[in-house]
Amino acid sequence: MTDKPDNSPLMAIPESFESGGSVISVQVMKTIRGAHGDWSSGRNLIRIRKDTPENMLQTFLHEYFHASLERYGHPEASENEGLVEALAQGFYQFLKTAE
Ligand SMILES: [Zn+2]
Repeated sequence: MTDKPDNSPLMAIPESFESGGSVISVQVMKTIRGAHGDWSSGRNLIRIRKDTPENMLQTFLHEYFHASLERYGHPEASENEGLVEALAQGFYQFLKTAE
């Protein structure tokens, strides 16, 4: 059960993108049990729970950094939630304030 995302003006959440030689799909879900989003390496899939556009963008960035760290040779860093969240918040602030 997927749904069309309402996008933040800062950045549109893609339907798919490439990372480390694979096509990663992005699905927006009405609900994801116990999470704002998740990354499934085996399925090449990021899922985002439907929420406000800003919250969905922040969740997308968080899951994107999980995927990128893993696909570019740092799976141990992808398991560090604090690091992943710092990258996501830093990039979100960049999108919000870059002039
Ligand atoms: Zn996480």
